[in-house]
Amino acid sequence: MAIIVHKYGGTSMGSTERIQNVAKRVAKWMRAGHQIVVVPSAMSGETNRLLALAKEIAPNPSPRELDQIAATGEQVSSGLLAIALQEQGIDSISYAGWQVMVRTDSAFTKARIMEIDDSKILADLNAGKAVVITGFQGVDPDGNITTLGRGGSDTSAVAVAAALKADECLIYTDVDGVYTTDPRVCEDARRLDHITFEEMLEMASLGSKVLQIRSVEFAGKYKVKTRVLSSLTDPMIPLEQEMKSGTLITFEEDSTMEAAVISGIAFNRDEAKITIIDVPDRPGIAYQILGPIAEANIDVDMIIQNQSVDSKTDFTFTVPRAEYQKALDLLKNSVQKHIGAKEILGDAKVSKVSVVGVGMRSHVGVASKMFRTLSEEGINILMISTSEIKISVVIDEKYMELAVRALHKVFELDQK
Ligand code: ADP
Ligand code: ASP
Ligand code: MG
Repeated sequence: MAIIVHKYGGTSMGSTERIQNVAKRVAKWMRAGHQIVVVPSAMSGETNRLLALAKEIAPNPSPRELDQIAATGEQVSSGLLAIALQEQGIDSISYAGWQVMVRTDSAFTKARIMEIDDSKILADLNAGKAVVITGFQGVDPDGNITTLGRGGSDTSAVAVAAALKADECLIYTDVDGVYTTDPRVCEDARRLDHITFEEMLEMASLGSKVLQIRSVEFAGKYKVKTRVLSSLTDPMIPLEQEMKSGTLITFEEDSTMEAAVISGIAFNRDEAKITIIDVPDRPGIAYQILGPIAEANIDVDMIIQNQSVDSKTDFTFTVPRAEYQKALDLLKNSVQKHIGAKEILGDAKVSKVSVVGVGMRSHVGVASKMFRTLSEEGINILMISTSEIKISVVIDEKYMELAVRALHKVFELDQK
């Protein structure tokens, strides 16, 4: 008997019929003797719908109230799933984050899980119940409802698995695993049987939305055995087959296989680039420019500072497109008034494409192959950044899909 956490995403919970299928699948696992905790997302489209309602009333709604509203989506789907399980003859109970409790900090709309109380969950499991816990939400020290950021149910599930020391966390979704790149963009994308935790972390942080990045961080920190697999197969397929399907996240030190040079291509469509021209080149400048941006909780990604000429330099960085205008407004206040730069230029239509692979550590020539491929396609590189296991470029957004497909081909990711 094992404790296993199942997570079902929005599409998997998208209708009462799909919820009934989820219940059949969970019932199958229970009847095989496992103890199951299920973490569902809201029904697909529901979180967007709820957030849009708030924006109809106010352009910048209070983050606390947004969480109060958005968290209801998961409460509905959890209750529905518990009922569907009861209809399958399974004793089941659903809990909201504040009932378990899933304790978080108070960063509304992007809260972090601090601790999960496992006592109630364990008692229910030991009483033979399937326990359903809302994804995406928690409760802060003052009793406010919080949410974990978009895609946050992945993190809820892995955190629950870590708290329970579960044997495995199964992330059921609308694809049958992690692919070499998003199959919606590249039809030659291939499912990976396994991917290392480090590669998954890079893929998630570079824009592959198949797993929320914090869920991967949790999986790494607490060594949670995590698998991504399809919820859209026949719920009654044999358990042995289901247990081996999908993509397993592995830990490099446990792996005996030789690593591929490149395992995947990640991209992020929605980036924006800001360049400040003729910044006086003196100590503290980077801090003066980026300090106010960080204080406003805007994530800065790539940063480039040019060689200075006549004690002046250009400074470029990227931010999420949704925060572009806010960042520009802040800079106009701080940089132009106090630092005396000449001009601020911006481009809100750029995307980032990255190649990822642990095998890059022991292979040279990956960067030049990437740059040659982009040049052959006539794609201009605007910015470059590298780490041990990834190379990222910022390009014009209109070439993003072309770049992904060309790189997928040249690195032979379509071939096993
Ligand atoms: P869920 O609602 O189950 O959480 P998501 O939409 O958050 O599902 O994540 C699944 C989606 O992630 C897939 O439908 C796919 O389009 C996208 N995706 C992006 N990159 C990848 C990748 N490398 N492998 C698989 N899916 C990916
Ligand atoms: N329902 C939330 C969202 O749409 C959380 C999730 O699906 O993981 O972002
Ligand atoms: Mg998701």
